[in-house]
Amino acid sequence: MSEGHPNLEYWMHLKHLGEHYAHQVSKEIVCFCQEYQASVIALPKYNEEFTRKVMYGAGNWRPLHLSTRIREYMHYKAWKAGIIVIEVHANGTGSVCALCGSEISEDGKRGKEFTCGNGHHGNRHLNAARNLTQKCRLQFGKQVV
Ligand SMILES: [Zn+2]
Repeated sequence: MSEGHPNLEYWMHLKHLGEHYAHQVSKEIVCFCQEYQASVIALPKYNEEFTRKVMYGAGNWRPLHLSTRIREYMHYKAWKAGIIVIEVHANGTGSVCALCGSEISEDGKRGKEFTCGNGHHGNRHLNAARNLTQKCRLQFGKQVV
C-alpha cells in the first residue's frame, strides 16, 4: 500500500465491509416491502444541519458507515422491484400522536416511548414513522388531485 496512507488497507477493508452490509440491508428492506406488497417506501428527510449531526453521530464520515449507503442502494433496488422511494420532510413527525393528532409533551418525547395528551403511548420511532407515512399520503393526494 501507499507509504502516505499507513492505514489505507485497513480503511479499504472497512469501506468494503460497509458496502457489503449496505447492500445486504437495502436488499432485505426491498424484499420485506415486496413480501408485503408495498409500492412506496417513505424515507424521512431532515434539514441539512440535523443531517450533518446525525451523520456525525452515526459515523457516516468514517469508512464504516451505513445509513447513507443503505438509502442510496435502496433507491435502485426498489426501482427494479417496482417500488418508489420517496423522501418526505420529517419536520413535526415526532411531535404529534399518529393516532389522535394531539401534541406530545416534552416529557413524552424522551427515550423510546411517547405519550400524548390523550393517553396514547407506544414506540416513539414507530409513531414518527406512522406520521411520516400520513404525510407521504397527503403529498400524493395533492399531486393526484
Ligand atoms: Zn394520541
